[in-house]
Amino acid sequence: MSYEIRVEKTNMPKPKPDMTKLGFGNYFTDHMFIMDYTEGRGWHDPRIVPYQNLCLDPATMVFHYGQAIFEGLKAYKAVDGRILLFRPEQNMRRINISNERMCIPPIDEEFAVKAVKELVMVDKDWIPEEEGTSLYIRPFIIATDPYLGVRPSHTYKFIIILSPVGAYYPEGINPVKIYVESNYVRAVRGGTGYAKTPGNYAASLKAQVEAHEKGYTQVLWLDGIERKYIEEVGTMNVFFKIGGRVITPALQGSILPGITRDSTIQLLRSWGIEVEERSISIEEVYEAHQKGTLEEAFGTGTAAVISPVGELNWNGNIITINEGKTGPLSARIYETITGIQYGKIEDKFGWIQ
Ligand code: PMP
Repeated sequence: MSYEIRVEKTNMPKPKPDMTKLGFGNYFTDHMFIMDYTEGRGWHDPRIVPYQNLCLDPATMVFHYGQAIFEGLKAYKAVDGRILLFRPEQNMRRINISNERMCIPPIDEEFAVKAVKELVMVDKDWIPEEEGTSLYIRPFIIATDPYLGVRPSHTYKFIIILSPVGAYYPEGINPVKIYVESNYVRAVRGGTGYAKTPGNYAASLKAQVEAHEKGYTQVLWLDGIERKYIEEVGTMNVFFKIGGRVITPALQGSILPGITRDSTIQLLRSWGIEVEERSISIEEVYEAHQKGTLEEAFGTGTAAVISPVGELNWNGNIITINEGKTGPLSARIYETITGIQYGKIEDKFGWIQ
């Protein structure tokens, strides 16, 4: 696809927020990218326009049946002033994997990376510079036919919005308390777990709310059939260090193939640390804890990069991991990935664009 992206700049730029009090997902930049899909014509009319409301018929299919996908990635202001993206081609690859599952027509991945770069350049003054901050990039696709029958839409919109976000760990990397969820499930094999589609997140809210009420930050999801094997932790992939080896659940269709997960596996292997991608049961983790071989547990994802797990509660059975502190391996991975993202560490893997 060799489209030109039409650019219409705003003549009413918004006042910038206090970049030291951003939080996550509260503020949006001056512009957005949009492109339309019409059956027979394909994707067309890519444009960058002033950030604005969408005007949609109440019958628009996405409101009723949730035919949609989304992504999340970040642009970083490097120490030398360059603007860096971390593996954006992987997010665009995953958009097409999600699209395929949700019967949404594929996008041109290279063009989508180009669209992200152009939009980020138009709004580059919105990239915060404080330590640990970044510009969160949210591409998404929605089904737009005004129709109430259940079938794939014939029209879609691909939109990209940007949001300056604060440091995930303003006071340094911090372990979290996790509730092992034995009642609700997130996804099953054959379902949509591996796709980044809104319904998965809607389905997870109830467990998250109940875990919060019990004083836990997030839930650890177990498999939907036996409630035995570990899947993910909240919106992160999960890793365990047991007896010197690192274990993470294999990708078998019910969990999201995280880009931070893949980067973590590549890093660990490059350091000569063995990584096993396989089924791991919650019993195995508790047994390892009893034997004293459970060294560390951590989640991986774009938002936090690494989130150490300090405590697990499985049916009232509470264990503390690494005395509730950040383990040395979690810290090393965190420092390395964030170092690459902010241009402080040499990018040997070719992850930065
Ligand atoms: N699992 C789920 C369910 C997620 O929403 C995310 C965040 N995208 C992840 C894992 C981590 O993926 P990534 O490392 O690509 O951010």
